Amino acid sequence: MATKLYISGEWVDGDSAAFESYDPAQGKVFEQVAQASTGQVNDAVTAARSAFNGSEWRDLLPVQRAALLFRLADLIDAHAEELAILETRDQGQPLGVSREVSVRGSAEHFRYYAGWVTKIEGTTSPISFPQTLHYTRKEPIGVNALITPWNFPLMILAWKLAPALATGNTVVIKPSEVTSLSSVRLVELAAEAGFPPGVINLVTGGGETGALLSAHPGVDHLSYTGSTAVGKLIAKASAESNLKRLTLELGGKAPSIIAADADIDAAVAGNLAGGLLNSGQVCAAYTRFYVDKKREQEFVEKLARGVSGMKLGSGLDAGTELGPLVSEKHLGHVQRLVETGRKEGAELVTGGQRADRDGYFFQPTVFAGVSDEMSIVHEEIFGPVLSVLSYDGPDELDSLIARANDTEYGLAATVWTKDIATSQRLANGIRAGAVFVNMPPIPDMAAPWGGYKASGWGREMGPQAIDAYTETKAVWLHYGY
Ligand code: NAD
Repeated sequence: MATKLYISGEWVDGDSAAFESYDPAQGKVFEQVAQASTGQVNDAVTAARSAFNGSEWRDLLPVQRAALLFRLADLIDAHAEELAILETRDQGQPLGVSREVSVRGSAEHFRYYAGWVTKIEGTTSPISFPQTLHYTRKEPIGVNALITPWNFPLMILAWKLAPALATGNTVVIKPSEVTSLSSVRLVELAAEAGFPPGVINLVTGGGETGALLSAHPGVDHLSYTGSTAVGKLIAKASAESNLKRLTLELGGKAPSIIAADADIDAAVAGNLAGGLLNSGQVCAAYTRFYVDKKREQEFVEKLARGVSGMKLGSGLDAGTELGPLVSEKHLGHVQRLVETGRKEGAELVTGGQRADRDGYFFQPTVFAGVSDEMSIVHEEIFGPVLSVLSYDGPDELDSLIARANDTEYGLAATVWTKDIATSQRLANGIRAGAVFVNMPPIPDMAAPWGGYKASGWGREMGPQAIDAYTETKAVWLHYGY
């Protein structure tokens, strides 16, 4: 039995043939997922429009809307273990990551934005027009398509769904075809929480289903997280249809700079966490390490030792530190780039191959002696592959900043140093949406998240997400008649 679609408050079968979802730790089919037809995508958009125009959702008091979001957060908590196991089986991430990052992080998002519902304020402006009150209102944009990737399916959906609902929008969700299951379960919980019919709709399917939404004239805003290549297609489809608003969270290639004065043990531990969380399938993952030559050898040795000691296994097994990659296709992508790294002359210190077991496992890999022009420094690998480069010390900071910025991406970066002046110079000079000093790249619902350059448009999380899901209306009230 395949999963179902959720349209206008009803669970319905997909009109097209279902597709398979795999358990990446086994390399075996795990579930059949409904495929929405074009008509069903249109129905979902129509349902979202009717719910947006109807009074049942629009007339809810802010406290009542907030209560629905709080209830959904409570339901996530009540089903936390079930959701965590589902996410691990479908995506592959270790259960500890599912529990702490994906499930707890999602519940926290709904609570954070539930708190915002009663605090969304406008402004009054001192316009130079006599006897006129000028004020602004923040209004929901309308129908929002939410298209998500496969690396953190539940949490990234929460990043979008929580602020969209908090601001009074309606949505059509389209999860990645590789990992649809936790999104289906979240929508079941949202239905149980009592959101009116049509406020939340879910269509499952592949890229063509997402493309229908990005070209749809009935969608007012599309929030997308995924690859930069698809982000460009979505921007084009938006331009050619109705110029729908876009929030784009795209790829990354985060640099990590390790200064001579850094606590190397802390830097190794933090960079392992920052580079290998979810087997490196993280948009902000630290991937290219610029180490002061004085500490390069020590860093490479300790990094390689740390990597080699990591326990590879099914995310469901206790003690697993590295789960599988999400799919056979993605494993092939990682393998190809590692092969290119070797051919281009990088020194393979450890790893470099598919692990000898069932499922889509890849050995954690460290390259040393990497140089700036190599493909592994520029292309997003999105796997457990760490590349070490070096620099010549504090006199080189300006050229180091230029090297760190020599990428189409600008999502995240990190700096490891005890010197405040060095950390500030680097943090100010690096063009990325988030710079972490002496810590792994941990998103938090209270802090804005998003990219410079080809890493995206706009920001999610924090108060910025309230802006992303609202239009500002200016009202001019002349009382001098
Ligand atoms: P992807 O681009 O392959 O797919 C993402 C989503 O887009 C899926 O739901 C897919 O079905 C859909 N899609 C595919 N073609 C489409 C089209 N033509 N029109 C509309 N939708 C379409 O990305 P992925 O492989 O699932 O995810 C990995 C990528 O996501 C990486 O590049 C990673 O850096 C990025 N990512 C970014 C962030 C961030 O916050 N910036 C977070 C997580 C992942």
